[in-house]
Amino acid sequence: ESANSLLGEEQPGLVITSFGKRVLVEDINGATHSCAIRQHLGKLVAGDKVIWQSDVEANTGVVVSVMPRSHELSRPGFRGQTRMVAANIDFIGIVTPVVPGIHPDMIDRYLVAAQQLDIPAVIIINKVDLVDSEEHWDAIGDLLAPYVELGIELIPASTVSNQGLNTLLDFMADKNSVFVGPSGAGKSSLINALIPDIDIRVGQLSEATGLGKHTTTNSILYHLPALDDKQGDHLNSGNLIDSPGVRQFSPMPCELSELETYYPDFAPFLGGCKYNNCSHTIEPNCAIKQAVEDGEIAYSRYQSFQRLLQEFKDSNEPH
Ligand code: GDP
Ligand code: ZN
Repeated sequence: ESANSLLGEEQPGLVITSFGKRVLVEDINGATHSCAIRQHLGKLVAGDKVIWQSDVEANTGVVVSVMPRSHELSRPGFRGQTRMVAANIDFIGIVTPVVPGIHPDMIDRYLVAAQQLDIPAVIIINKVDLVDSEEHWDAIGDLLAPYVELGIELIPASTVSNQGLNTLLDFMADKNSVFVGPSGAGKSSLINALIPDIDIRVGQLSEATGLGKHTTTNSILYHLPALDDKQGDHLNSGNLIDSPGVRQFSPMPCELSELETYYPDFAPFLGGCKYNNCSHTIEPNCAIKQAVEDGEIAYSRYQSFQRLLQEFKDSNEPH
């Protein structure tokens, strides 16, 4: 940036996406500006709230400070480092499809990751238009019973029948949300259904950044439509942040004792294990294993716990 260019007054803005060494910043009127970033600020991502100054000679600007982040969503990167992919997320929708099937293991991974960040999560049961029998519903109900017990909100949804879409918008109002889940779960379809003008939006962004429509893998922030169909204040209505990196977000390796805190359904039994540091695998007199046997802890929950424990152990071994 030319040092002698004339800068306007400091003003608040919202980072829509980052590209190269720049960010696209939305001002309070909803207009976007390609901005350089003052060096000391480090990396900025979609969802960051910033203070920026416009360059009065161009439609560009410079970000001069960033507000403290309530949450940073990161994903694993090279050599155990993490890469921040979104900021200020306060709602996670875990998308799981009824066909080919609901995977409690996957749900539990995301629930652990959400709890580590202290971000509330709901489970979106997607493609419910494909449930074709009473038996199918019963099987789904069995898989989801542990989450009902845990008090986690379940939202049946379909982009074919539009079921659940308004409920979702209700949950997401005034929040920065992400959808996570495996490929094929229907996340793109949901996003397209919730944000009818997304194609136009993506076109505008590619123009503003000078990048092709599908060349950036960086996170992008989209505004959700206002519930009453009247466009509210841009900076205060709900947003959805999406990118391949956001979708794959996973739990950070942690100790056994920390992992246990993310399984509140284990809590009533933990004191009953013979050994203090019981891993609930091969130890005798394990109250967790007993509770599974007695049907007081769901076997799927026990299984996902053991898988995560093993995964975390493996990630700590020197390679
Ligand atoms: P993503 O990988 O999670 O983004 O999943 P997509 O949105 O690309 O959807 C994967 C496939 O599921 C596509 O063929 C969609 O047409 C289909 N699909 C998505 N949502 C629904 C739904 O609610 N009902 C049905 N029957 N199919 C869906
Ligand atoms: Zn035990």
